[in-house]
Amino acid sequence: MDFSIPAGCLALMERLASCGYPSYLVGGCVRDLCRGVAPHDYDLTTSASPDEMKRVFADFRVIETGIAHGTLTVLSDGEPYEVTTFRIDGGYSDGRHPDDVIFTPSLEEDLARRDFTVNAMAYSPSDGLTDPFGGQADVKHKIIRAVGEPERRFSEDSLRVLRALRFSSTLGFAIEPATAAALCKLAPTVTRVSPERIREELLKLLSGKSSEGVLLAYRDALFAAVPALSPIGEKWDAAARAAGGLSSDPVLALAALGLSLGENGVAALFRALKTDRKSEKRASLAVSAYSDGLPTDLFAAAAFLIRYGEDTARDAVLLAKAYGDGNAEAADSAIDAFLATGRPSTLSELAVRGDDLKAIGIPAGPALKETLATLLDLASRGETANEKNALLAAAARLKTERKR
Ligand code: ATP
Ligand code: MG
Repeated sequence: MDFSIPAGCLALMERLASCGYPSYLVGGCVRDLCRGVAPHDYDLTTSASPDEMKRVFADFRVIETGIAHGTLTVLSDGEPYEVTTFRIDGGYSDGRHPDDVIFTPSLEEDLARRDFTVNAMAYSPSDGLTDPFGGQADVKHKIIRAVGEPERRFSEDSLRVLRALRFSSTLGFAIEPATAAALCKLAPTVTRVSPERIREELLKLLSGKSSEGVLLAYRDALFAAVPALSPIGEKWDAAARAAGGLSSDPVLALAALGLSLGENGVAALFRALKTDRKSEKRASLAVSAYSDGLPTDLFAAAAFLIRYGEDTARDAVLLAKAYGDGNAEAADSAIDAFLATGRPSTLSELAVRGDDLKAIGIPAGPALKETLATLLDLASRGETANEKNALLAAAARLKTERKR
C-alpha cells in the first residue's frame, strides 16, 4: 500500500516524528485513498497533546479552532491541516455530544471511537495501514458498517443515523443489515440533534450520487429522524426520484423533495432545518413558480420572467425536468427564445426610468409604478421598442387613456 500524500502534509508528519510523536492520516482521507479517490482534505491524528503540538509547530502558522477537542489547524505549504491528539470520547449523556474528551496514547482507541469501519482506518508511510475493524474490506465490498455494537454507537450520538445514510448516498455503499436495523430503530432520537447539524447531513445526503436509492429505502427512518419531512407522506417516492436527479444542487433537491408541500410548506421545511434565508427564498420561489405553470411560448415566457426573474424561472424548469414534466423542454426553449430577443424583463433593463416619466408629468406614486409595469409589459412583448422615445410616447398615450 503506497498512497501519494501532499508534501505539506508529509512535512507535518516528519516534524512530529522528529520530535518523537507518531502521526497518521485518519478518517475520510484514508477511506478515499483506499477507494482510489483524491481526498478533499487530509486530517492527521497524533500522540502529541495539544500543548506538545503547539511546541512542535511553533514555527508554523497555527489556528487554535478546536483546541478543547485536541484539534489544531496547521498551515503547511499553503494548505490547512487539522491535527488532532489521539482521543476517546467521554460519556454521551445527551446522545448529542461527548461529555468530555479524554486524550489517549493509543491509536487503536482513537479509531474505536469513530463511526463506521471505512472511516476508522489510519495510514502513515512508515507503518502502512492500521485497520482494526476491517475498513479496507468494507471499502472493497462497498459497505457502511458501524464500528462496534451498532445500537450502542447510534445511541451515543444520534447524528450517526444520518451520517450512515449520508455516506451510503455519497459513496454508493450499502448499509450492513445490523447497522441498518439499528439506525432505523434509533432514527427518532435524531430529533435531539441541532437542526443545523441535521441540515448539514441531509444536504450532503441529497448531494450524493446514490441519494435516490437511500431516500427510497429509508423513508420511514427519515420521517422519524426529520419529522418536517413526514408531511410529504405518500408523495415520497416521486419526490425521492426527483431529488435524485438534482444531486448536483442539494438545495434544489430539497425543494424538489418538498414540492408537494407547496410554497409555504417548502419554506416551513427549510425553516425547520434552520437553512439560510437565501436558500429558503430560492426554494419556495422555485416551487411557487413551478406550481404557477411553466410558459411554453414567447409571450408566456416574457410574463413568467417579469414575474419571477431568470434564476427562479430556470430553477422551476429544473424542478419540472426532475419530475419528468413533459413541458420542461418547451419551457426551457421558450425562456431561451425570449432571452435571445434581447427584450427587457426587468425594470432595470427598461430604457426609461421613473424620473423620465415624472418629467413628462406622471406623478410619483401608484400611477408611475403602474405605467412602468405596463411599459415593461409592452417592451417585453415587442409591442413597443425598448427605446426611450418610443417608451415615452407610449407613456404619454397611457396617460391620456387614464384620464378618459
Ligand atoms: P467527508 O469526506 O465528507 O469530509 P469524513 O469521513 O472526513 O467525510 P467528517 O465529518 O469530516 O467525515 O469526519 C471526519 C472523521 O471523524 C470521520 O471519518 C470519522 O472517523 C470521525 N467522525 C466524524 N463525526 C463522527 C461522529 N459523529 N461519530 C464518530 N466519528 C465521527
Ligand atoms: Mg472530512
